[in-house]
Amino acid sequence: MTNPTVGIIGGGQLGSLLAEAAKKINIKTIIFCDDANSPAKNFSDEFICGNYNNDSKIDEFVNKVDLVTFEFENIPFVTLEKINKHKKVLPNPKINKIIQNRLSEKDFLNKLNISTTQYVHVKNDKDLKSKIDLIPGILKTCTMGYDGKGQYKIETADELNNLKPDFNNEFILEKIINLKKEISVIITRFDKSKYEIYEPIENVHEDQILKYSKIPADINGKILEKSMDWAVRISEELNYIGTLCVEYFVDKNNNLYVNEIAPRVHNSGHLTINSHNISQFENHIRAICGLEQIKIKKNFNAKMINLLGDNITAYRGKKFKDNEFFFDYLKKDIKKKRKMGHLTITEKC
Ligand code: ADP
Ligand code: MG
Repeated sequence: MTNPTVGIIGGGQLGSLLAEAAKKINIKTIIFCDDANSPAKNFSDEFICGNYNNDSKIDEFVNKVDLVTFEFENIPFVTLEKINKHKKVLPNPKINKIIQNRLSEKDFLNKLNISTTQYVHVKNDKDLKSKIDLIPGILKTCTMGYDGKGQYKIETADELNNLKPDFNNEFILEKIINLKKEISVIITRFDKSKYEIYEPIENVHEDQILKYSKIPADINGKILEKSMDWAVRISEELNYIGTLCVEYFVDKNNNLYVNEIAPRVHNSGHLTINSHNISQFENHIRAICGLEQIKIKKNFNAKMINLLGDNITAYRGKKFKDNEFFFDYLKKDIKKKRKMGHLTITEKC
């Protein structure tokens, strides 16, 4: 059998790193993205620009590929469903539908008896004002949020009087957790009970954007085990194929909560490119293409720093040590807080 051609929806850094990993194992990629300047066109074999609801452009894309995956979860469900009728979309769009919406995502987790923060569905001002027991809290749009976008922190009940969220959107109000730390677990599921799972990664956010990640995470054995066990249960329950990330909160009393699930490769897993024999990106491509599952092995401990906005400038043209790996996403414009690149530093383990 010849290797399949993989279509990737979304052309940011995750799409780029997927394309790069695919190339390494002789898999061709075609990126579909609504941004003509998308950085992934520098890394994929082919690039098609079109809106996510442009049927003729989508047809052109679908006709050229053997299967389709995506780098972000906010693609319209109808688009993924339509594509899935012609070429297999992995992970399955049904999974995306659950996870795209913070409310159905949290309901799904609670049904599995997996802890989340306390939350409530907020559709209007009345709902909001009747839930003061969840304050201090964060009001989050049910859909389309990322990197803290669409979120309002509410410290005191008084603040509710000045808050004017756009109720054309639905929201959830979530209680704020007294955070000790944040971790994430990345798992690639190939088939029933067949998966490769990376050890938990410790993450530090600044202004709700990931800034640093490292392995090993500084956590106790119980949290390590539970976080990995939950990630396995979630991926099995979803009948997931490909790489998935579970983001967790650990509170000051060492309680573990799922913050959110990303049905895709994840920023916190960038360090797996340099720490492991097989990265989260290569594993995603392997799983969706039905290629051989290779046991993962950690070669190094690692730290990753996200380079945001003009932080990137100092790194371009810089000389690096043998254990430092600089990634430039080659984005056309530098914007404040935009993820422009990252640096991974490995250490003996
Ligand atoms: P996004 O989808 O934008 O990544 P998240 O829900 O993951 O949104 O929130 C981004 C970050 O904001 C989290 O990683 C965490 O640092 C902080 N945060 C979000 N919700 C809470 C909460 N309920 N309690 C404490 N911190 C939170
Ligand atoms: Mg998040």
